[in-house]
Amino acid sequence: MISIAKPVLGHEEIDAVKQVLASGQITQGRLTKELEQRFANLCDSNFAVALNNGTAALHTALYALGIGKGDEVIVPPFTFVATANAVLMQQASLVFADVEDETFNLDPGQVEKHITPRTKAIIAVNLYGHPADYDSLRALADKHDLFIIEDAAQSHGALYHGRPAGSLGDIAAFSFYATKNMMCAEGGIITTTKDDWAEKCRRFRHHGQSEQTRYEYDDLGYNYRMNDIQAAIALEQLKRLHDMNEKRILNARALTRGLGHVDHIQTPVVREGVRHVYHQYTILVEKHRDALLNHLRDNGVGAGVYYPKPLHLHPHFRKLGFSEGDFPVSELLSTKVISLPVHPSVSEKDIEKIISVVKSGVKA
Ligand SMILES: *Cc1c(COP(=O)(O)O)cnc(C)c1O
Repeated sequence: MISIAKPVLGHEEIDAVKQVLASGQITQGRLTKELEQRFANLCDSNFAVALNNGTAALHTALYALGIGKGDEVIVPPFTFVATANAVLMQQASLVFADVEDETFNLDPGQVEKHITPRTKAIIAVNLYGHPADYDSLRALADKHDLFIIEDAAQSHGALYHGRPAGSLGDIAAFSFYATKNMMCAEGGIITTTKDDWAEKCRRFRHHGQSEQTRYEYDDLGYNYRMNDIQAAIALEQLKRLHDMNEKRILNARALTRGLGHVDHIQTPVVREGVRHVYHQYTILVEKHRDALLNHLRDNGVGAGVYYPKPLHLHPHFRKLGFSEGDFPVSELLSTKVISLPVHPSVSEKDIEKIISVVKSGVKA
C-alpha cells in the first residue's frame, strides 16, 4: 500500500533525541529557544513561540489578540476541526464563511457578507499547503479593523507573492503533528512580528507566568509547553524542510502531468505568485467519488478524504444553529475531494502506479 502520509525520520532525528535524553535537560529549554529563533527566521517574523501542538497554537494566538466572549471570528467550514474549536475555547462566537471551489480556501466575498460590528478576526487556513487570498483578506481586514490569524498548520515553507506562510496575517499558528510537512510527533508554533503578542503567548503556555517572574500569575493560562525532545526532532526536520517540500512539489507536478487531461477529474489549481507545498495533493472527482476511492484502496493506493463532512454539519456545530445548505461550496467539495499520496517518500514508480490506478478507476 502506498500510504497517504509518512514522516521522514533519519538517524539525525534519532541521534538528536538520544543527545537530549543523555543531557538530562528534557523539558522546555535551550533547544526550544533555538527552534523558535530558526522558525521565526523561516517565516520572516520577529518572534516564534513553540507549543505542544497546533491546536494549542491556535487557541493561544486568539488569546494573544484579546479575542473572547462577545467577539465574532470568521472561519471556513472546510478545514480540520481545530480551526473552529479554538474559537470556542476562547468563548468567542463562531461564524462560518464558505470557501472557493478552486483553492479550497476562504472566499473573501463570502467573508465580507458575514462581517458585523462584532467581528474581531478572520482565521484564514492555507488548506493543503496553498495560501489563502491574503491581498483580498487584508483589504477587508483594514476596512473593518479586523485581525487576520493564519492557520498555517498545513503550509510550512509555502509562499505568497514572495512572502512566507507565517508572515501573511497578524499572527500565525503551525502544527508539527506527524503527518505535516515538518513534524515532531506532536507540536506547534506561533509566529508574529509583535513583541507584546509574543509575550502573551509565552505566558499563556505556562499558566500565565512570565519567564522573568516565576510563581506570579497575572492571568489564566494553560500548560501548552513544548519540550526539548520535541524541539530536537523539529530542529532536524527544519533542516530537511526545503528538500522535503521540493520533493512534494516534484511529485505533485508528475501527478498533474499524468492526470491533468483525464476526463471527470480536476487537478489542483495553483494561483499566480503562490508556492504550493502540497501538504495534500487533492483532486476533484466529478462523479462517483467513493467508487474511485474504493478502487484506489483495493489497488494499493492509500487515498484520503479531507474532509468528508464540512464542520457545520457535525452535531457539535449543528448545536450552534448551522444546518445543511448554509455553505454549499464546502458541502459539494466534501463529496468530490480525494487526496493522493504526495509525501517525500512517494517514489517515481509509486507516481506511475497512482496515475494508472486513478485512470482505470475514473468512471463517466
Ligand atoms: C493539523 C491541523 C491543526 C491542528 O494541529 P494539531 O497539532 O493536530 O493540534 C489545525 N488546523 C489545521 C488546518 C490542521 O491541519
